[in-house]
Amino acid sequence: MRYLVLSDIHANLQALDAVLADARAVGYDRVVVLGDLVGYGADPNAVVERVRALDPAAIRGNHDKVCSGVEPAHSFNMVARIAAEWTLNALTPDNRRYLAELPVGPRQIDDRFEICHGSPYDEDLYVFDEMEAQQSIRSATQPLCLFGHTHVPVMWSLGPRGLEMAAPRDGDGMVVDLDDAQRYLINPGSVGQPRDGDPRAAYAFVEPEVRRVSLRRVVYPIEAAQAAILNAELPAVLARRLAVGR
Ligand code: ZN
Repeated sequence: MRYLVLSDIHANLQALDAVLADARAVGYDRVVVLGDLVGYGADPNAVVERVRALDPAAIRGNHDKVCSGVEPAHSFNMVARIAAEWTLNALTPDNRRYLAELPVGPRQIDDRFEICHGSPYDEDLYVFDEMEAQQSIRSATQPLCLFGHTHVPVMWSLGPRGLEMAAPRDGDGMVVDLDDAQRYLINPGSVGQPRDGDPRAAYAFVEPEVRRVSLRRVVYPIEAAQAAILNAELPAVLARRLAVGR
């Protein structure tokens, strides 16, 4: 079984299509989505419809909550709030309902891994440092937990050697061969708004039987995604940041 893992697509249709084309060339059996389908990007309806057609095991992200009206935008900065209001208006009632009804993570996928948006114990927590990573791994119910929200690809593991961290290097993806003595917390990175300084779309495959997670990067037409954002009169900073992956 090979799972295609998508996180933080953020209504970036160009990035999603490039990822899906790349993933189809490899092949996969099922799709999991770690939340934040929309918010920031200019194509929320098309992205939600693409995702729905994949029949994924999905959970909600903080932007899905705000953009579907489930939660107010209190916690959002000005740019995120403007984009969320724009998205709430742009979504069809059917797509808005799909987002509003996405389940809260964590969600168990099979007998070895689960998914969450921020952390297994708080869907809105940003896991950046060692303490948050350690608490998150300990609160996970499965040896492998996939998370999103930070938009930064990373692997944390906890085992006899203590807590370890690894991140993909420039240019290449990263293959993690899972060790049964370790517990893992892995972020595939963001499809639609990468923030690790690499502007390429990020995603992952999980193959539980062979104990492998593969983090991948894909070039996509960034200029087209930027043009769509500017055309929609969303804040220009949302277009600019795509070019630098920050
Ligand atoms: Zn996000």
